[in-house]
Parts: sequence; structure tokens; C-alpha cells
Amino acid sequence: MTSEPTEHKNAEDEVSPDEVSPEVDAQTKALIEDFLGSTGGSTVAESEPEPTWHEQALPEGHKSGFVALIGRPNVGKSTLINALLGRKVAIVSRKPQTTRNRIMGIQTQPQHQLIFIDTPGIHTKPRYRLNKKMIEQAIASIPDADLILFVVDVSAPPQDADRRIAQLLSEKATKRPVIFALNKMDKLSLEYAEKRIENYWELLPNYADSMPVSALHGTNVQKLHTHILDHIPEGPRYYPDEQITDQTEWQIAGELIREAMLRYTHQEIPHAAAVLVEDFQKRDNGVTYIGARIWVERESQKPIVIGKKGSMLKRIGTTARKELERFIGGKVYLDLWVKVQPKWRDHEARLQELGFK
Ligand code: GDP
Ligand code: MG
Repeated sequence: MTSEPTEHKNAEDEVSPDEVSPEVDAQTKALIEDFLGSTGGSTVAESEPEPTWHEQALPEGHKSGFVALIGRPNVGKSTLINALLGRKVAIVSRKPQTTRNRIMGIQTQPQHQLIFIDTPGIHTKPRYRLNKKMIEQAIASIPDADLILFVVDVSAPPQDADRRIAQLLSEKATKRPVIFALNKMDKLSLEYAEKRIENYWELLPNYADSMPVSALHGTNVQKLHTHILDHIPEGPRYYPDEQITDQTEWQIAGELIREAMLRYTHQEIPHAAAVLVEDFQKRDNGVTYIGARIWVERESQKPIVIGKKGSMLKRIGTTARKELERFIGGKVYLDLWVKVQPKWRDHEARLQELGFK
């Protein structure tokens, strides 16, 4: 931060040399603090409060904005957002429709604050109320963004959903620049590259910029970041410097548990399951207790998630606990339960419990 020095901030550094020597100053300070300590007074109350984050002066030309990642399921939006941020805020899996909520990843650096919005994949055949809500969330983030990253998978030709998204963007993102993030270039053979990329450009001819990337390997991600900043306007900070996401600890914990569950379950289970964190407490012994329920839709799915003698649930729990401990930075006791919640994907009240509006 290059905020203007003020009296109350770093006061020791800012005493002018002709006033008092640093040693004397430190000694006097210690004496005063000692005295006040024994009389119950405080030196802190006397000074002005620290400036809050939005009162701090920003460097000239400071940029800020909201960048929405839009694309069909499984093209690598969540992988790309984590790569752009250089840290994990969104869970990733090989199974389509992993991202159910829109998730914000905030990056604050001296010259900018970028707020990346990861969105559920947009596809053309939503079967459940859940999927409709997911698509609605993705579409709703288009007009709110300062810039759109249209994430496509160049290892495959454009699909109906890509065309639908291009149409949505041409309708709803009229005044916002759209950058093509041509992802999975590591899987694209050079022979087809040019033609394939042109096929994508044709979907949205008035795109502002375009960058082939591999979110998985990190190729060109930094370049893409620079191009994003080129299109971002000057602006203030919208969030405190240290905030990295809008998700609560409870939500992040639920997502990490769901990620572990997605890793080990197959077929209909990943889609039919949800995780609801019901308890999250730091206990006196330093261990964080997390209690969560995995919802499944049918009685027959319960034994699959639990496994023989609880082996599957144990596997999910062990992987999730390790991720949770990394996230929390301390020991975690994870209590996982499986519950049948019939038709939750079409049940308004259940969806609201999971945080869908
Ligand atoms: P999302 O549904 O668009 O958010 O996609 P995810 O980020 O969850 O990724 C879906 C799958 O694609 C995962 O298995 C990722 O590891 C994989 N993936 C993402 N980016 C790339 C990439 O650049 N190259 C390759 N080969 N795979 C990728
Ligand atoms: Mg995703």
C-alpha cells in the first residue's frame, strides 16, 4: 500500500529526527506503557483509529473490476480461476456440473483488485430445478461483470451450448469486453489448431481479445491475466485487501467435502448428492469440529456412498479432512453422515437450505 503516512500509523517511524532520538523515544514509550499498564490506562485509546481498507489511499491508476468466467460444463472454468488467482477457491472435477454456485475469487495486488466470478456451466438441457437455478446464476452474472471470459474447450469443436452462450453474450454483454479463453490447448493437435480456433471466433466475431491457454498446465495463464488487466477500468477496491472469496468457512468446507465425494463416486451419485455442513466449531483443544451430511436422493444410493463396512465414507472423509486441515491450518475432526433426502434437486425448500435462492 502506498497510502499517505499519517500520525497514528507507524508512529515510531514518522517522528522527525530533530524532535527526539529513537532510543529515547522507545525508552519513554516503554516507561509510559509500563506506567499505564499498572494503572489500567492505555496508550491505544488516545490515538486515532487505523484507516479502514476503503479509506486508504490507492496508487494512481489503480484498476478494479469483476471478471465473470462463462462457459459450458467441464471446459475448465474452475481450473482457470484457480490458476489466475494462484490459489484454490473453486473445486474441480472430471465430472460435469461440479460448480453449483457462483463463487467469487478476489485478487488484490498493489495496482489492482480483480474479482473473478466462477459460474456453473451453461448447457441446453436442464433437467431439475437445481440445474435451472445453476444456469440462472451463471446468466445473471453476465450483466454484472466488467469483463467476460468466455471459456471454451478447443480440444473439441464448438457445441450447441457454446453457440447458445455466444448468443447470450451478444445479447447481454453488449458493452462489456469478451475475451476468449481457448482452454485445453495442451490437448489440441497443431494440425487442427487454426481451423478450430477460427470456429470458436466465428461464434462471437466482435470479441475483444483471445488467448489460447492450458489452465491445467498453467500455459499462458499469466499472459491472459495481463490481457484481462488491459481491459479493466480504473476503479476503487470493493473488498478488504485480505479477503480472498465471498464464501463462508462453512461453504468452503462443504465444497471441499463435495470435491472428495466427487472424486470417489461415479455414475448418478455425483449429480444426486449434495453436502450440507451443519456444525463448524473450533474447540478448546484447538481441533475444529465439522459435522456434515451428504444428501442422496434414494435409499439405494445410501449404501453406495457408505460403502462396505463404511469404507467409502471413510475414504471420502479422510481425503476431505486433509483438504480441510490445509484450508483451516489446524487439526480437523470430521463427522460425516449420509441422509436420504428424496427429490432434493427439485425441492424448493431443500435447495434453499443449500443456499440457492
Ligand atoms: P468447469 O466445469 O468448467 O469448471 O471445469 P473444471 O475446472 O472442473 O475442469 C473439468 C475437467 O477438465 C477437470 O478434469 C480438469 O482437470 C480438466 N481441465 C481443465 N483445464 C484443462 C486444461 O487446460 N487441459 C486439460 N487437458 N484438462 C483441463
Ligand atoms: Mg466449475
